[in-house]
Amino acid sequence: MYQTELLAATDHGIARAAGLLREGALVAFPSETVYGLGGDARQDRTVARIFEAKGRPGFNPLIAHLPDPEAAARYVDFPPLARQLAGRFWPGPLTLVLPLREGAGISPLATSGLTTLAVRVPAHPVARALLRAFGGPLAGPSANPSGRVSPTRAAHVMAGLSGRIEAVLDGGACEVGVESTILGFADGGVQLLRPGGLPVEELEVALGQRIAQHTTPKEPGRPMAPGQLGSHYAPGALVRLGARAAETGEILVGFGPVKGDLTLSESGDLVEAAARLFHILREADALAGPDGRIAFAPIPETGLGHAINDRLRRAAAPRF
Ligand code: AMP
Ligand code: MG
Repeated sequence: MYQTELLAATDHGIARAAGLLREGALVAFPSETVYGLGGDARQDRTVARIFEAKGRPGFNPLIAHLPDPEAAARYVDFPPLARQLAGRFWPGPLTLVLPLREGAGISPLATSGLTTLAVRVPAHPVARALLRAFGGPLAGPSANPSGRVSPTRAAHVMAGLSGRIEAVLDGGACEVGVESTILGFADGGVQLLRPGGLPVEELEVALGQRIAQHTTPKEPGRPMAPGQLGSHYAPGALVRLGARAAETGEILVGFGPVKGDLTLSESGDLVEAAARLFHILREADALAGPDGRIAFAPIPETGLGHAINDRLRRAAAPRF
């Protein structure tokens, strides 16, 4: 339990919030869309705690908030269309999903292990001041417990997350009140991944072209809902769950009392396990090799265990 601090949006409050974020703490912050649950997108444990605080039953990739386009360009590459839209609509309620730069240092838990990163430059003056003072990429899903409505006031955040995060920076009421519009840039085109606060018609006028609704390959014609991503990071090796010992030829990933070749958490700490999950998936995959097999120790179905098991079940699902 944390004694959640309610910080006023003064120079002092913003400096305090930025200091907490640099230490890896969670600080909810105002933006023009909704309040974000902010944490340093480079720190694995911090990102794991974002999912823990929200109580989500799965992991989804998070949006990295940055103070300006130049800061965003340190983490992602901008194709020409993305550069054009960023120049026209940032700061504002527009999120761009772009190729992650090599060695960008973003926690793989923040991208769900994907090779793309969603970036946004928010317009809210308090968000911008916080981002400048913090100086890094700030992961920020909506600051509400999973399944509840997004918060548009500091009091809403307090009602949902008090005791679960270190602080809330109070910037008054949010203006837009709905999430950002999300665009992807696969295959040289532009795709609408989620409608939001910036109308797609405005984006089409700026580009002088129509923007396609992104559809999942499995269900053509059906728009993809947030979090319902087409491609998850899947290991090449075959994955078996609930293993207490390795069978011949398997790489065993332990947890708590089950010792393995690798471990998600020797002490059985679910936050540590979530923080390490995507690193371990890649490491185990590399050890097992293309035709290898990976076995995972049982993970309890409590707290972050739900999200970890959700991801492991996807990794173990048959692939075609
Ligand atoms: P929010 O809940 O507002 O933080 O938005 C997060 C959503 O952004 C996710 O659920 C995805 O739909 C989308 N998103 C974030 N990162 C990516 C990515 N790398 N690729 C595709 N969609 C993404
Ligand atoms: Mg939300």
